[in-house]
Amino acid sequence: MQSPVSIERRRFLGGAAGLLGASFWTNETLDAAVQNTNTNSKPSDLKITDLRVATVARAPMTCPLIRIDTNQGIYGLGEVRDGASKTFALMLKSRLLGENPCNVDKVFRKIKQFGFHARQAGGVCGVEMALWDLAGKAYNVPVYQMLGGKFRDVIRCYADTTESHDPKVYGQRLKLRRDQGFTFLKMDLGIDLLEGTPGTLTQPLGLTGREASNTQHMFTGIEITDKGVAMMADYVGAIREQIGMDVPLAADHFGHIGLNSCIKLGKALQKYNMAWMEDMIPWQYTDLWKKITDAIDIPTLTGEDIYLKEPFLELARAHAVDILHPDLATSGGILETKKIGDGIQEHGVAMAMHFAGTPVSAMANVHCAAATENFLALENHSVDVPWWDDLVNGVSKPIVRKGYIPVPNGPGLGVTLNDEVVKQHLLEPGYFEPTPEWNKERSHDRLWS
Ligand SMILES: [Mg+2]
Repeated sequence: MQSPVSIERRRFLGGAAGLLGASFWTNETLDAAVQNTNTNSKPSDLKITDLRVATVARAPMTCPLIRIDTNQGIYGLGEVRDGASKTFALMLKSRLLGENPCNVDKVFRKIKQFGFHARQAGGVCGVEMALWDLAGKAYNVPVYQMLGGKFRDVIRCYADTTESHDPKVYGQRLKLRRDQGFTFLKMDLGIDLLEGTPGTLTQPLGLTGREASNTQHMFTGIEITDKGVAMMADYVGAIREQIGMDVPLAADHFGHIGLNSCIKLGKALQKYNMAWMEDMIPWQYTDLWKKITDAIDIPTLTGEDIYLKEPFLELARAHAVDILHPDLATSGGILETKKIGDGIQEHGVAMAMHFAGTPVSAMANVHCAAATENFLALENHSVDVPWWDDLVNGVSKPIVRKGYIPVPNGPGLGVTLNDEVVKQHLLEPGYFEPTPEWNKERSHDRLWS
């Protein structure tokens, strides 16, 4: 009887010869390729047998990790978007059981209807990451290689820091990030700075903070006065004095101000050469974004809550913003995010990446960023979480080294979990406990008749 390895080898030889012509391959090349295939795994017979969850808390966000098990002892790791419910992943389990995880795109297309914008996409994207991890482990190659290879060996990270209304304090904190090696910075710049200073904001009298935060920007009736705009600009100027003009400095979380205030503020900040103005209004308003972008001479950016490539392409085609900013755990996972990057590149638009998860999701981002040419910078929210690196093994530490993450070369995402550390930071009791209650979840899934 032939061993599974020799059958695998024969199958591989046949496939390679058919595709490229036998003369292309030397015997050494073939031997090396076959030796690299994980012989514990016969990829063509790999089947998903289970999906389980362990939710990490305060990383600094709540991050549900998922593990997809198979019939061959290998498993894949993924992560539901920060702040999303683990249920978004668990409800997919019955649709995944029995599927071959190496057919990443086929399985993704089967489940993608169960995602939507922002956190509702968390389950689909977490599963997609785990499928790539499994495919990489089955064939013993890193994910970036399956995406077409690397454009770069290290991934530039950008970081913000905890806010202070005192620009001297905030500037010191941002300067520390620069000293830590970060080459790209971001700050919060909200109208909360103006609270308590008369004559800086015009808004419906009696509007509560809760009302304002649950109302989209254009519908709040909040506008900044010239005095308020000058105060916010001076605040940025005081920070620029400390960190210098040469490092990119992006700004986010302006508050729910009207469109004209966005433009007034943007113009006032031109002299500080901001790297981008983020999410000044909701991403859905392409025409309004274009008004802002056309009116100010600093880059605009949105995208962290968009699911699937089509809305990104619409924004890029219209040149409604200068930079797009998918969160891979919302945008559709690793392959969809590479498609987003490639698609918007054709319109001359760069891709920055929003991210606020654990090292598992960080590595999904790193492989995608390595394989996408127009990548700009990847967010990191966990610089001050001392145990963040310890959640995983398999990659060199520190994970973020002088502002960059080296692209790992291990199979799949390249990380394994450090069980002891993850168990110390769980949101709720239970570490990848069985989930038989999700085995039979069913509906008639077809989207057409
Ligand atoms: Mg943001």
